[in-house]
Amino acid sequence: SQPERLQKVLAQAGVASRRRCEEIILAGRVTVDGQVCTVLGTKVNPSTQRIEVDGQPIQAERRVAVILHKPTSYVTTVSDPEGRRTVMELLKDIPERLFPVGRLDYDTTGLLLLSNDGELANRLLHPRHHVDKVYRVTVLDMPDKETIARLEQGVALEDGMTQPATVRVLRMHPRESVLELTIREGRNRQVRRMFEAVGLVIKRLKRVKFGVLELGDVAPGDWRLLSRQEWTALY
Ligand code: URA
Repeated sequence: SQPERLQKVLAQAGVASRRRCEEIILAGRVTVDGQVCTVLGTKVNPSTQRIEVDGQPIQAERRVAVILHKPTSYVTTVSDPEGRRTVMELLKDIPERLFPVGRLDYDTTGLLLLSNDGELANRLLHPRHHVDKVYRVTVLDMPDKETIARLEQGVALEDGMTQPATVRVLRMHPRESVLELTIREGRNRQVRRMFEAVGLVIKRLKRVKFGVLELGDVAPGDWRLLSRQEWTALY
């Protein structure tokens, strides 16, 4: 394979995000063929050179990414201090150590990306990359036009105004309606807080899209590997 920048090689091996890997390099924790390397951007070839972090060789692991259809009542962290079930239990068949790229609330369902590729995580989570997230939101009653317009224009939350969003009405019914909200930001509990701020009661929240990735027909609790086309679209 081609020589690549050291921090990129470390991130791809799942050591940490690229930012964190840069810090790890600068801290003198990385050796290349036995020599400490603190120079960011050093070109290395992981298939011919021995690269270690804190004396441990980095894994020449295959890069894996899966789209999981998260059911409700699972946390998206690797472990939970309260002992609740974590999405990791749904990925037991995958030998690689994956981590969630982004989060969904305990009660939220839908598309959760997991990977061992820190570089991929960096690309998708960094605000500068403007990744669209699409949520299907089932609400009580029937939201009126002004309420929908407020969601689209921006809502005042305690951490500031939300950026313009897009709302598509999928179903209007006096008892229960379904909106599809597209946002680019990814603040903590953002959708729930936006809807609460405009007085809408959420009954169900499901993420159906994350950038170019779509949940499609993956069943709840099930997962699929990213396709070659999806990898290409992300890199
Ligand atoms: N916004 C939320 O409020 N919750 C989620 O799980 C995802 C986005």
